[in-house]
Amino acid sequence: MIKRYNILSAGSPSDLINQANKAIEDGWQPIGGVIQAKTYKFMQAMVRSETAMDAARREMRKEHECVYLSDGGACTICGKTAIEE
Ligand SMILES: [Zn+2]
Repeated sequence: MIKRYNILSAGSPSDLINQANKAIEDGWQPIGGVIQAKTYKFMQAMVRSETAMDAARREMRKEHECVYLSDGGACTICGKTAIEE
């Protein structure tokens, strides 16, 4: 599901390519074709299926050591309980 939409604009095709490649590395995907407009010469719509916060949470879940509070509840980062692990 698409969670974010953005429009890149650049003065030249190579500038747009650089911007798009950076965005793709960051989880964005181009949608539709390139538009050539007057104000900004080249434009590309980009979407991503997760918010920046979702991405940060996903990274955190990947790399963390589970943190259980002394009451025996779920991990404060991923929500797993000690028994599930
Ligand atoms: Zn955890």
